[in-house]
Amino acid sequence: MTTHVLAGAIIGRALARHPAGAFAAGVVSHFAMDSCPHWGIAKGVPGAHEQFLRAARCDGCAGLAAMALAAGLAPGSARRAVVAGMVGGASVDLDKPFEHFFGFNPFPVRIQRFHTRIQREAPHRLPHELAMAAAAAVAAWVVLRS
Ligand SMILES: [Zn+2]
Repeated sequence: MTTHVLAGAIIGRALARHPAGAFAAGVVSHFAMDSCPHWGIAKGVPGAHEQFLRAARCDGCAGLAAMALAAGLAPGSARRAVVAGMVGGASVDLDKPFEHFFGFNPFPVRIQRFHTRIQREAPHRLPHELAMAAAAAVAAWVVLRS
């Protein structure tokens, strides 16, 4: 989630006058990023669900902190678009907390299938994932401060 949020912040800054466009571009960026090789929990192994929850807690908190920081860093004229881009980027993964807390996925089945089918996750890519998040954080910092 955190990298999706940071990408959404950068998109929102680029589309500062178009919050709706920033939201839509944030959603598109989520699918584009999910289709690139990235880290994911090995499925079907003992302890996978607990590992997922541990990672989701950390990532969720980091993503919310990134949202607050980016919204605060964004110039007032771009803040709505930056927030919209971040929300667009993060909203696609709302299926996970919805399934965990409420027991259902709020998205239509076709979107669920598409989201699942494009994933290119592998458990050995955690260093790659962390490097991408750090690079996105630096890029967001630079873009939002400019
Ligand atoms: Zn996703």
